[in-house]
Amino acid sequence: MSFETLGLAAPLLSALQKAGFAEPTPVQAASIPKALEGHDLMVSAQTGSGKTAAFMLPALNKILANPPKDRGVSVLVLAPTRELAMQVGEAAKSYAAHCRDLRVAVVVGGMPYGAQLKALSRRVDVLVATPGRLMDHIQAKRVKLNTVHTLVLDEADRMLDMGFIEDIESIVARTPSDRQTLLFSATLDGTVGNLASKMMNNPLSIDVSGHREKHANITQALLYADNVDHKMRLLDHLLKDVNLSQAIIFTATKRGADDLAERLVDEGFSAGALHGDMNQRQRTRTLNLLQRGRLRVLVATDVAARGIDVQGISHAINFDLPMQAEDYTHRIGRTGRAGKDGLAFTLANVSERHKVRRIEHFIGQPIPVETIAGLEPTRVARPTFKARKGNGGGGGRRRPAFNNGAPKKFGEGESRDTRPSRPVRAGEGNAAGRSEQDSRKPRHGDRGPKGASSARTTGRPGNFSGKRSGPAGGGRSSNRAAAH
Ligand code: AMP
Repeated sequence: MSFETLGLAAPLLSALQKAGFAEPTPVQAASIPKALEGHDLMVSAQTGSGKTAAFMLPALNKILANPPKDRGVSVLVLAPTRELAMQVGEAAKSYAAHCRDLRVAVVVGGMPYGAQLKALSRRVDVLVATPGRLMDHIQAKRVKLNTVHTLVLDEADRMLDMGFIEDIESIVARTPSDRQTLLFSATLDGTVGNLASKMMNNPLSIDVSGHREKHANITQALLYADNVDHKMRLLDHLLKDVNLSQAIIFTATKRGADDLAERLVDEGFSAGALHGDMNQRQRTRTLNLLQRGRLRVLVATDVAARGIDVQGISHAINFDLPMQAEDYTHRIGRTGRAGKDGLAFTLANVSERHKVRRIEHFIGQPIPVETIAGLEPTRVARPTFKARKGNGGGGGRRRPAFNNGAPKKFGEGESRDTRPSRPVRAGEGNAAGRSEQDSRKPRHGDRGPKGASSARTTGRPGNFSGKRSGPAGGGRSSNRAAAH
């Protein structure tokens, strides 16, 4: 299928050509024609799937078909975080590059008011906003939404998680009731479903893939560790992978992100932290360094990393497990962008098995357990995803190590290939290996068994330099992004 067959206007097609997009992604192919027909849509889509173009192209198409008569906002996009909103704004500008005199403005929290006031004092066709800051502008009567014909709720599940429901309701109430509403979310059930039923008109549901098929280009692995020191050594090993171009590491806390970034800088990595306690200037600077490839390792918290779209990120590493199972998919979705392959490693203590199980149930498949020769945990975790008899699944039993297990001494070797021996991709999970409870609920996108829950040994132990024990730093702030 080509973009030409979707019915988009010529200026949009030429912008897509310039962007190098040869054909629509599945979410674009499924959503764009229905949106162009005027339907309200509820779309289950992950970041990295091309969802921004899936809503932005039909929205821009509508502006081109009915050029606005007055200066009011035509398309309003609400997004949970400033990073995502800024990224959507940039995408809108690139898709609208060949549309004459089409104006895009972004208003987000944590940024100075000056530029936003200036943007809002002029005509705005596409407004991308975080809900809180938009409410400020609405209350100060700087923006009116009575001309909005297309409302987009991007990452609606996350906006609800972040407590934006009241702001969203009051923003939506200011838009015309005959608008078109396009809702994008990782999940469509629960509170998102309630929100949709209140503000959408007979929406079509589009779910291009089940959880297990999402991130099919990302190879996942779970590494058990005995303690923080052990995690550090595993991390050090992973970061020395010859195939690593850029990595994003997730920590549970802002302080943990600072400490780890600082420690990695001390060890000679080009590393920086990204979290909500940094001011916007620091965050933008760090993101720019990452975009330009000047920063190899970003240590981030969940909210700060949300929406980061950097195609060079080859590795996503969960240093701490996510609080919510759903965040796991958002985290690993920072790698494998734009059709590239990615690696996602999760470090967990054996005592955190129950959290791993929750994640596995959410994604509908086991995360393959790996060990690194010389860095194996002393305690072996029982499999969290039990295989049923006769299904040929690995059931989490340990397979013989594929290498001779001879540990390399610390100090030997500089960089290694840490890829698992046989890449196991998301979606290759042992479908029959779900727990009984889970297997009663057939999921869209189930695939055949491949024994993904067995443990394997991979790679060699790392050359470990610098500090080794205990959590790093003393709480100093390491917003610096040192490039070495
Ligand atoms: P998104 O899910 O919208 O954040 O998009 C993820 C990445 O995919 C972005 O870098 C987009 O520029 C890129 N992208 C979106 N649509 C396409 C397409 N049809 N072909 C190639 N890359 C795309």
